[in-house]
Amino acid sequence: MLRKLLLYLSNQAWLRHFISRYPAFRNIAWRFVAGETIESAFGVVQSLRKQGIESALDYLGENVTDLSSARESTDFYLSLLDRMYSSGIGNYVSLKLTQLGLDIDEEICKRHLEEIVSKAEGYDIFVRIDMESSAYTQKTLDIFKDLYHRHKNLGVVIQSYLRRSYDDVQELVRMGARIRLCKGAYLEPPEVAYQDKKDVDRNYIILMEYLLTNGNYPAIATHDERIINHAKNFVQKNSIPVDNFEFQMLYGVRRDLQRTLAAEGYRVRCYVPFGKEWYPYFMRRLAERPANVEFIVRSIIRE
Ligand code: FAD
Repeated sequence: MLRKLLLYLSNQAWLRHFISRYPAFRNIAWRFVAGETIESAFGVVQSLRKQGIESALDYLGENVTDLSSARESTDFYLSLLDRMYSSGIGNYVSLKLTQLGLDIDEEICKRHLEEIVSKAEGYDIFVRIDMESSAYTQKTLDIFKDLYHRHKNLGVVIQSYLRRSYDDVQELVRMGARIRLCKGAYLEPPEVAYQDKKDVDRNYIILMEYLLTNGNYPAIATHDERIINHAKNFVQKNSIPVDNFEFQMLYGVRRDLQRTLAAEGYRVRCYVPFGKEWYPYFMRRLAERPANVEFIVRSIIRE
């Protein structure tokens, strides 16, 4: 219930304006968001690297409604790539297609993405397209497949809560695509997505085993310790080298587990979001764990 309410509120502009200005929320958001500037995000990337953890930088933004904002986000990513290359900080970015104009014009969105991916390719930087709600799954995969033929430094995300994901994974693996596997963070109807956590987790394990066996350097993106232990046992049993895949987790979530896995010799990458448009991202993080909401309520009462 609470998850559904928070996911619904994550799309409400009126609440976004209120919360973005409320200092208590901003302070709590910094647990999950690496500040608003490139400098603050680079600081996080450097401190993670000291702990043996790599990063994926995400400049926050989604569902832009005009082409000038889509262009601004594209230009921001282009200058971020320049800064990453010249400073040697980071080798991986994540982005959302609705941030590049998918809601407005698919062709323009694809052109924006190709500008980013081409520049990243010259810098040897990997670009991951995040997966948004199921309204965008097919469009995202179509754009990915089109560009992947020309740019191998591009990857995509599959969500285990979607019923279609097994078929998508098989097709993408046949193409040699690099997949990040996650459970899925949006509010979805039962026709397209499993509603029961047990089914989402079961499907995650099926897809994960398939990817670890057949995939091209899959990213196992979860904080679920049971699933992570399953992955560790599976690769050991099947003699899969630990550098054939990586674990990925979100900034501010299970930092202890991130450090432990890195110390055990696994490759770990942390998703590091930054920028002013943190509200919907932050609300999705709250929705994933009701205890986060209790924490906020307690901090506001204390203020
Ligand atoms: P859960 O079963 O939700 O959680 C397992 C345990 O992890 C919990 O018991 C808790 O201890 C801890 N935990 C999980 N979330 C939180 C939190 N927010 N705060 C504190 N503790 C927490 N989703 C998409 O739809 N599209 C994407 O492109 C996408 N990219 C992602 C990239 C990365 C690197 C990661 C890690 C996640 C991504 N997600 C994405 C989000 C994902 O779909 C899940 O919503 C999220 O990871 C929570 O699921 P879980 O696998 O951690 O398992």
